[in-house]
Amino acid sequence: MVVAVFLLTGSGAVARPEVTVETVATVPSGTGSNPFYVSNRAPLAPSPLIKLPIGDITPKGWLRKQLELERDGMTGHLEELSKWCKFDGNAWTSPDGTGANGWEEVPYWLKGYGDLGYVLKDDKIIREARRWIDGVLSSQENDGYFGPRANKTGLDGQPDLWPHMVMLNVLQSFYEATHEERVIPFITRYLHWLNTLPPATFSRGYWPKIRFGDTIETAYWLYNRTGDASLLDLAARIHQNMENWTSGVHNWHNVNISQGFREPAVYYSQAKDAKFLNAAEHNYETVMNLYGQFPGGGFGGDENCRPGFTDPRQGFETCGMVEFMHSFEMLTKISGNPVWSDRCEEIAFNSFPAALTPDWKGLHYLTSANQVQLDKANHHPGIDNGGMMFAYSPFEAYRCCQHNVSHGWPYYAEELWLATPDRGLCASLYAPCNVRAKVADGATVEISEETEYPFGDTITLRISAQDAARFPFYLRIPRWCGKPRLKINGKSHRLPADSLSYAVIQRQWKNGDVLTLQLPMEVAVKTWETNHKAVSVARGPLEFSLKIKEKWRRDGGTDAWPEYDVLPGSPWNFGLVLPGEGAAQAFKVIKKHLPATGNPFTQQTAPIELKVRAKRIPSWTLDKSGLVGRLPDSPAIGAGEVETVTLIPLGAARLRISMFPVIGCPGSLGPAGTQGRD
Ligand SMILES: [Zn+2]
Repeated sequence: MVVAVFLLTGSGAVARPEVTVETVATVPSGTGSNPFYVSNRAPLAPSPLIKLPIGDITPKGWLRKQLELERDGMTGHLEELSKWCKFDGNAWTSPDGTGANGWEEVPYWLKGYGDLGYVLKDDKIIREARRWIDGVLSSQENDGYFGPRANKTGLDGQPDLWPHMVMLNVLQSFYEATHEERVIPFITRYLHWLNTLPPATFSRGYWPKIRFGDTIETAYWLYNRTGDASLLDLAARIHQNMENWTSGVHNWHNVNISQGFREPAVYYSQAKDAKFLNAAEHNYETVMNLYGQFPGGGFGGDENCRPGFTDPRQGFETCGMVEFMHSFEMLTKISGNPVWSDRCEEIAFNSFPAALTPDWKGLHYLTSANQVQLDKANHHPGIDNGGMMFAYSPFEAYRCCQHNVSHGWPYYAEELWLATPDRGLCASLYAPCNVRAKVADGATVEISEETEYPFGDTITLRISAQDAARFPFYLRIPRWCGKPRLKINGKSHRLPADSLSYAVIQRQWKNGDVLTLQLPMEVAVKTWETNHKAVSVARGPLEFSLKIKEKWRRDGGTDAWPEYDVLPGSPWNFGLVLPGEGAAQAFKVIKKHLPATGNPFTQQTAPIELKVRAKRIPSWTLDKSGLVGRLPDSPAIGAGEVETVTLIPLGAARLRISMFPVIGCPGSLGPAGTQGRD
């Protein structure tokens, strides 16, 4: 659908339109070529959306604050906290690959630590990351292998290459940020060595077999920079021999799913058959339809998904969150489909912040949609994992997550804006930032994005440019927004109101132009038919939780790096009292200012609250292990007086009830609302 405003010339003849506004379901990939940024090189399928160089997007506001907390918290101090991140004697940094700790921890940490430095332009972090990366770059053997020698024969005498997949990501970011000339030949030699290995290499080992799609992405990254066709042969060999994700989900480990499900879509770039793109979507839907029937964007995969364990008390691993976000960011660029950005925001806003303490000095392994007591107790078999999974700690109890959590926000910040094949720009994920990019015939524009999103609904984009330039401006319209509003320099423009699309605005952009996008947010109540007919409450991209008083109790650690239990200091077993029709009208919205601390993801600083009537459900209690009891069926029997309760954004709620029973008489109707996951 296109809306155009035509410019009349002096003679009255109609010239080309001054401004066109249209919406597209996906960004088309065949609309030209963008010579300014590296994208897929033929014969790979053209990229509909293209990553900008690391450093060209400068996060501001709440997002910058999260990155600063990460710098000042665990990720910035893992060399002090983690026994795996000791430089001296490390197998990743010694020239001959001997030493200790040659597994995934160092690559996991560096994957986000380096990017944190590049995104914040923090010289200290960049310097320190380089020290480690220089060590890695010094360790290559004549055959191309590098890093820990023990891994070369780690699987019954054969190479165990999972940790290398992560280290390649570290090197890719390092190259994008620094253009260090050693990186390209280094990765080339490694991938050439990999290509000499027998096909069984890619079907061996529990982790490598499932996750080898990561190296397909690295092979394309390198091919796009060098044109070395042997890399496409390698990618095809990996695809043909690794776990078959194209035929469905065959492994139910949380993190394996979160990073493995995307593999067919990555390979789509080479195969150019839509069945591969569709397979990733099918995998996602398979998992979410079975185990993701609650808000927050994750699924119940406490270590492994288990038949029958679909209650919102099941946990989602922190590694799963950041890998899901990374997968969604990749799929946005491969498919040009805005649904992946929606899904990325869903995790980033509603689940990820609660995986960590507000000061980023501790995290836990499992975050659940309903989770009311974060303690050190063993909650198995209610959740699959035994031992401590819920209490916050900066230490080795959460070995993988402690290191892997690092790339969540830095990667997110790198993906806010993307370039398009028609030499335009796309606002893909909304957050306050500045972006500098080349458009049109090479003109440089800078855009200041000012917004309180996701807490506010208005995004203001101020354009700075030396010369005016005509280029398309793509703005993502999320799936929950049916009535977006657009103004250019204060003048309203009709925006075809297609949710889950991109608005494309073509005009001559010049210095001082201001584009304002409003994405009105309304309270929405969703009924989860397959999960006891419970309801969840959303407003725009934010899901909501009951506000439960948090009692933080020091339970170990050091004064500088404490471990905490968080216990409930107020009742949590509420069902909502909602009308049978128009349930959304039952909520009163209270907006506040963004906090001076800069961190909106805490109970005290959440910038928005909802008020709603509710009733206690006395039969809904903790189980014997201290795990929140399974959801009662709705309509549920309440007791006592009707009370008014407060809901806060789910990402700000460490103690959380986001799946609510509905109070009613047996046989009565629950609230109106959409059903299931869309
Ligand atoms: Zn983990």
